[in-house]
Amino acid sequence: MKNLLFKLIQTPSLVGSEDAVLESFRNAMSPHADNTWTDRVGNVISVKNAGKKYKVLLVAHADEVGLLVTNITEKGFLLCKSMGMGAAAMLVGQRVSILGKNEAIPGIIQSKIKKDKNEKPVKFADLFIDIGAKDKKEAEKWVSPGDYVYVTSRPIDFGNGLVVGKGLDDKAGMTVIAHVMKELAHKDVDKICLYCAAAVGEEINSHGARAMAAALQPDLAIAVDVTETMDKPGSDPIDGCVELKKGPVLARVPILCRRIEERLRATAQQYRIPCQTEVYPYLSYTDADYIHTAAQGILSHIVSIPLRYMHSPQEIIAVQDLEHTRDLLKAFLKELNNAPI
Ligand SMILES: [Zn+2]
Repeated sequence: MKNLLFKLIQTPSLVGSEDAVLESFRNAMSPHADNTWTDRVGNVISVKNAGKKYKVLLVAHADEVGLLVTNITEKGFLLCKSMGMGAAAMLVGQRVSILGKNEAIPGIIQSKIKKDKNEKPVKFADLFIDIGAKDKKEAEKWVSPGDYVYVTSRPIDFGNGLVVGKGLDDKAGMTVIAHVMKELAHKDVDKICLYCAAAVGEEINSHGARAMAAALQPDLAIAVDVTETMDKPGSDPIDGCVELKKGPVLARVPILCRRIEERLRATAQQYRIPCQTEVYPYLSYTDADYIHTAAQGILSHIVSIPLRYMHSPQEIIAVQDLEHTRDLLKAFLKELNNAPI
C-alpha cells in the first residue's frame, strides 16, 4: 500500500488543482474496475459490477490543504490566505513551492511578528512569503495573486510502521479505497454495484461529493477519511481517546446512519479487526455529512484512519491502520453482499 500512498502524497492537490493526483488514482483503479471515468466537476469514479440494482459508494477526497497568494508587496513579498491549514504558527520557517506562471517557485514562510509580547498565536494575516525577489515587478514575473502555495515536505518512513507526510488527509483514504477495489473480486460483491471514488473539494465545501452523490444516487455511502488522534501532549480527554495503531475509527455522529455504524462494528468483531470509537455531537465534518442529504437522502457513514497533526505540513499515520481499514471495508462489503442494509 505504501507505494501508492507515497506516489499520491508527493503530488500536490490543493482545492481546484486535484487533476494530477486524480490521474494517479485513476491509473491505480482502472485495471480493477469495469469502468473508470472523470465526471463533470472532476471527481474520478470507478465501478465494479455495473448495472446491479443495489449501489454502494466508497469515497475519499483528493484535495489537500494549502495556501493561496492574495497580493504582492512593493518589496516583492507574497501575502497569502489559508485554504484549510490548521494553524499559522506551524508554518513559520517552512519551505514552500508556489505553483507560479511557468514553474514551481521556491519560497520561505515568515511572520511579521518577531516576538509576541502578549503570547497571542500567530495569525495567517501575520505571514508572508519570501521568494528572493528584489521588488514587486520582479516577483510578478514569476507569481500572481491566486497562485497555489504548498509546503515542500518529503514523505518519510518514520520507523515503527509509521509514515510522515503532507496531505495524508486524505491520500491515506484514497490509498485504502484503491486497494479495496483492487483486492475485492467481482464474485465477492456480485450483488452490489460498487463505486469507488475520489472527490474534489472536500476541504472547502464538499462540492465534489455532493455532485457525485446526486448523480450516482447510491443506496449506501461511506466516506473514508482521517481523524485526529488524542495520543499526544495537549490532548484533552473530553475529545476522546483515538490513538495510532488501534485500527480504523468508527464514529457516533447523530445525523449519520446508525445501522451502518452498527454493521461496521459487528463486522469488525466478526473478522477480529481492531477498531476504535470517536464521538461528534453535531456533524462529522467530512463528505458524509453532505452525501447524507443529497438526492432524497442517502444512508451514509464514515470510516476514519487515525492521524496525528491533521492539516499540518507533517502528518503521521500508521501503515497497519491503513491495512486494517482496508480489511474492514472489504469485510463490510462482503457481508453487505449477503445482507444489504
Ligand atoms: Zn479529510
